[in-house]
Amino acid sequence: MVVRVGLCMLQGARHAHIRSLEHASEEGNIPIIIHELRTASQFKKYKCDVYVLPGGETTTMRRTGGSLENGGSGLLQSLFSHLRESNAPVLGTCAGAILLCNPDDGGEPLLPASIERNAYGRQVDSFQDSVNVRLFDRQFPGVFIRAPRFEQSSINCESIATHDGEIVGIMHESRVALTFHPELTDDSGFHVWLLQQAFNSSE
Ligand code: GLN
Repeated sequence: MVVRVGLCMLQGARHAHIRSLEHASEEGNIPIIIHELRTASQFKKYKCDVYVLPGGETTTMRRTGGSLENGGSGLLQSLFSHLRESNAPVLGTCAGAILLCNPDDGGEPLLPASIERNAYGRQVDSFQDSVNVRLFDRQFPGVFIRAPRFEQSSINCESIATHDGEIVGIMHESRVALTFHPELTDDSGFHVWLLQQAFNSSE
């Protein structure tokens, strides 16, 4: 099986995800094709098995990927509707996590948690620190860039990563939202996990 990965190319850390996906494909010995998605029509054309929603700026992504009526490409609406219908696995990092928790399209959130943008402060408050990842039972290099924060008491799904005792990664079905950037590290653990989900969901 070749796993078709839909990578949302609206803005932000897209190319780093391509590199991490390629590493993950080698590491997990899982052949992949990466489809770069920018518009609703591309989304329909490439039926993908798993999706990646990168970090960046949610304001820009909501504008570029917003509804066709508002001058956007329609990508986000297509993605969110498809995720709700199909339960396809998705990895959302940083801004991607914000969009999954708060899709703002009139439908149900893709992950049941409230999330606050820029909750650690400004750009100078960005930091790197080790994150405890329960999903892999090991430490992971956490890169937090103008990161959001889950409202801890609002989380209504599984915690998969913590930093300083605070939840920074959550999972609901095969949807993962991280407030940090795994694609900016050499550790492709989360990308391997995502590719493996394609096999689980095809069973
Ligand atoms: N600060 C960004 C936002 O609120 C998210 C930061 C990121 O993705 N690195 O959209």
